[in-house]
Amino acid sequence: MPNTQENAPRCPECDGPMLRILYGYPTFESFQAAERGEYILGGCCVTNVSPQWGCRQCQDRQAEEDQRAVFDRIRNRDRDRG
Ligand SMILES: [Zn+2]
Repeated sequence: MPNTQENAPRCPECDGPMLRILYGYPTFESFQAAERGEYILGGCCVTNVSPQWGCRQCQDRQAEEDQRAVFDRIRNRDRDRG
């Protein structure tokens, strides 16, 4: 584990170690760090409520669920249209 994760909190959802979220325009280095599982890329939009820590597993799961919800909506819309 890299030193940066020494004081990482545990995820309340899955109890896995949480990762620092990097905000701002990602550089090549930050992409590589994210690939190695050292950071999560938070994107360019920084808000007051942007969290410092994130859980990669839960984020991936959330992304999957979001995607499924979009598919369901499209399916329902097509069905309603007949
Ligand atoms: Zn988690």
